[in-house]
This record gives sequence, C-alpha cells and structure tokens, in this order.
Amino acid sequence: MINNVESLCCVAPIVRLGAERWRSLGLTDEGGTRMYGVSGRARRTGAWELPVGTPMRELIERHAGGMREGFALRAVMPGGASTPLVPADAIDVIMDFDHMKQAGYGLGTGTALLIDDSVCPVGLCLNLVRFFAQESCGWCTPCWAGLPWMVGVLADIEEGRGRPEHLDLLAEQMWFMGEQMCFCDLAPSATKALGTALKLFRGEFERHIEEGRCSYRERGPITGAGSAAGGRPAGSGTATGDRRPGPGPAAGGLPGLAPDRVR
Ligand code: SF4
Repeated sequence: MINNVESLCCVAPIVRLGAERWRSLGLTDEGGTRMYGVSGRARRTGAWELPVGTPMRELIERHAGGMREGFALRAVMPGGASTPLVPADAIDVIMDFDHMKQAGYGLGTGTALLIDDSVCPVGLCLNLVRFFAQESCGWCTPCWAGLPWMVGVLADIEEGRGRPEHLDLLAEQMWFMGEQMCFCDLAPSATKALGTALKLFRGEFERHIEEGRCSYRERGPITGAGSAAGGRPAGSGTATGDRRPGPGPAAGGLPGLAPDRVR
C-alpha cells in the first residue's frame, strides 16, 4: 500500500540497490533513507534525502547551515504541527522513529521547523491550535468545544487579556484531549506542541499575562537577510505571521467549567 509520496520515492532505490543494501544505508536499526527538511530562519532551508538516524544537529548545522545571523535557535518542531517541541539544547537527538519517541518527541514528517528568538511562543501555539480547531470534524466534545476554547484563551494571553489561572486551565483541558479521550488522534495531536511550549516557555506565557501585552509585537519589523521572508511586519511574531482572529471561546464555555473560569 502506498501511503504517501515519500513511500513511493523509496521504491526505486530499493529495487535498484536491493532491500538489504538500501537498508544498510541507515545509521540505526530502522535502516534506509528518508527525506528530512528544515524551514524557519536557517541559512539554507530545504529538503534532503539522508540516512535514517541522522542526528538533528547534523541536519540543522551541516545541511541547513545553522541559523541565520542575528537569530538564535530556541526549539525545533521536528515533524509537523502535531509533534512536541525539541529544546535547542536537545538537538543531538537521533532522528529515527524509535529514538525520537524514546526521547519524548516524535519524528512525524521529519521536516523540522526552527523556532528562533524572534518567534512569540504564545502566538506560535495560537496558530497551531487554531489550525487544529478548524480541522475538527465535530464528533467529540473535548475536540470540537475544547480547541476553539483554547484558541480563545491563547488569543487572550497573546493580546494582553490573559489571567494567571489560564495556564492551569489550558493544562486541564489538554488532559481532556489526551490519548484515548477522543475518537481519533487529531485532538491529542493538537496540543503536543502547546504542552511542551508551556514547559519550555512558561516564563514567556507568564510574562504576557503579567505585562498584559505581547512584547514581540512591539519589536518592530524584522528586515534584511536575517528574515525568512525578507522582512516581517511588526506584530507578526508567530511562525506563520498569521494573526487573523480566531473563533474565540466556545459559546457558553466548556462542560464542567463555569463561564467565569473560561475567560
Ligand atoms: S478527535 Fe477526531 S473524531 Fe473527535 S471531533 Fe476531533 S477530529 Fe473529530
């Protein structure tokens, strides 16, 4: 069965080299090669076919050339929006399925998004959760009601209306959306980056709440060669620069949560 283009791409070299020879190209027991990618503020963004088991550091520093001048790496989203964040001091992790899972991350697509010090962690999580909220099919309550509610809370925090209790409420809601709590994997996947961001960047979330503002919005445009897009308007401190308003909290709040606890 062909699952995706990546699977299809493996067929030709396996036929040409033979299964054992192709398998021996990998650096770990999983064997073979796969496509790895890097996006964000690296010197060279792109995709490379590399041995399975290539360390993340090698992917970022050797193949992508490291960070662009003026930007510091803070974390990596290793394989798409549904993978937990890898902190910058843990990029020696081996990029195969087993090693990533054992380390508490996830290989996912193998396309790493570099999160640098110009990216607002709150805005990043807001964009991610908003994406999943839009994708919910509406079958399970923790998903259809919980995700828009989380979008509303994250938007409140980012826009200066956050309250200290919001962080615990987000963690509580993530529990309701954990493994086995919903019908499919979308809901638990939706909060993996947020869950790690709340640990890695808790101080940043708290600072948004204490100061009632997002300092990333006030830093002015990021321009010149250091910008991924050749310049970024002030206030777009998120991974995608998307600041469209979200759907807001679910009407009436979440089951089991009094409305005054929702916002
Ligand atoms: S968890 Fe899956 S099945 Fe349940 S509402 Fe979300 S998308 Fe639908």
